[in-house]
Parts: sequence; C-alpha cells; structure tokens
Amino acid sequence: MRRILGIHRPGPFHWVGDGFPVKTVFSYDNFGQQLSPFLLLDHAEPKHFEPAAKPRGVGEHPHRGFETVTIVYAGELEHRDSAGGGGRIGPGDVQWMTAAGGLVHEEFHSRDFTARGGLMEMAQLWVNLPARDKLAAPRYQTVLDRDIPVVALPGDSGQLRVIAGNFAGKAGPARTFTPINVWDLRLKAGHAASLDIPEGHNAVLVALNDTVQVNGTDDVPASRYVVFGQTGGGITLAAQAGDVKCLLLTGAPLDEPIAGYGPFVMNTEDEIRQAFVDYREGRFGTMPVRELA
Ligand code: MN
Repeated sequence: MRRILGIHRPGPFHWVGDGFPVKTVFSYDNFGQQLSPFLLLDHAEPKHFEPAAKPRGVGEHPHRGFETVTIVYAGELEHRDSAGGGGRIGPGDVQWMTAAGGLVHEEFHSRDFTARGGLMEMAQLWVNLPARDKLAAPRYQTVLDRDIPVVALPGDSGQLRVIAGNFAGKAGPARTFTPINVWDLRLKAGHAASLDIPEGHNAVLVALNDTVQVNGTDDVPASRYVVFGQTGGGITLAAQAGDVKCLLLTGAPLDEPIAGYGPFVMNTEDEIRQAFVDYREGRFGTMPVRELA
C-alpha cells in the first residue's frame, strides 16, 4: 500500500474575476516537489448564478511555463487566447491549454449560460512543463466528455474517467509533455476500490464533495488533499455515507527547481523577470478582435 505523506487543508476561498468562486486546494507554494509536475488546483464548488446580460469571468491575462486544465462539472465556459485557441466546454468536457512560451487568454461563462443562469462547478489544474518545453509553442486541446474513456470499477463500486494518461488499458485523449494521469473518479456510497499507481509517480488525491476514506485508515474530508509517496503500490478509496467525486492525479516528478510569480511558473527568478519584460513588450501576442454575437 502506498504511504500517505500528508493530508493538508486547502487554501482560502477567493474569487477569480467575477465568475469563479474558488478554493485553492493545493499550490506549489507548499510541498511543490511532492506535487510535481502538478502546480495548483482550484475548485469552484457548485454555485447558482442568476441570469445576467454580461458574461462573468476573468478578462485578458498572461501565462507562461505551464498548462492550465479546466474541467467543467456543471455550467458552460468559453475561452479565447492569443495563440488562436478557444472553444466552449460544458459538463464533463475539459479544456487543456498549453501556455508554454506565453499567451494571453480570457475565461468566461458562456453567453448561453450567462443568459439562462444555473449551476456552475469547475476545477482548474495547473500542470508544470519540464525546462526543455517551457518556451515551446502554445497549443489548445478541447477534450470532450464523449471522447473521455469511462472505466467501470470492480464490484460496481463506481467509475473512473481517463482524462489523461492510462487506466485499465484505456488511454485518455489529452496529449501531455511528461507521463501523467488525470483520473476523475466517482465512488458509490458504501463501496471501496483499489487503484494501482505507477511506481515512481508522485500522487495527489482530493475529494471534491464529501469525505473519502483512504487506505482503510484515514477519513479525509472534502477539499483536503492527500499526498502519497512515490513508490509502494496502489491505494484504496472508500465512500461512506454518500457518493464521492474525486480527482486522483499522478505524474513522473520533474525534479527541477520551481520559480513562480502570479501567472508565470519557470525554473529561475531571472526567467520570471524575463517573462514580465516579454509580456510588457507584447511578445505574448494579442487577443483576437471579439466577434459580434
Ligand atoms: Mn488563466
């Protein structure tokens, strides 16, 4: 059984723009090397938005040095970036944006969702890039729900969606720079499941909505994150009173220094200073002119 290195509380609640009321579950400020290559996870818990005329969200801002992965659980989002990427994603869909060498983008509730209102829930994961790819060309992948393999877990205990990586012989559609697994799990109340994790991978687990019991010993409330050792086999998860929705992230550690500031994550402070210079001088590109609705 893989050892639990720590069970940690999430960061404080805050708004990202006016569209995303999030809790930062984890960030590389704490345990960065134990989480590598994952940098940050924000979770916007289910929240009802009233109909509005103007889409809520976060306007133009830059990123460099990593990827943002947005998973929609409820509601609908629209995205555009300066590298020509963009799209609309709804429940079950994922947007995998590689900022790499630098881009500017915006993230809003979709126009349809804004007009009708409703429940919004999403998570955004930041995945670090190895030093050799930090200045690669940006790219954008829309990963639709219908293209994400769903694996039934043994004993009718639940299901696992393979967003990236592999599970039980199924490969996730997202292309990644280094070996990682992004598994979106549903465990049924009163059921347990054992999951293999590749040897040598870091692994981090968060239950988004309810308590999950880990390795038969630790009851972990929603939003706390569990950091596992790099070796020692798999883990077991058990849902008790209610169905549990979890993200289990595993990846080969990059073993490189992490230097980050706001929307930039590089390897050195000099590279962060350079990111500010390049952004200020317009080298991250400019947003396409907005089409009239
Ligand atoms: Mn962003």
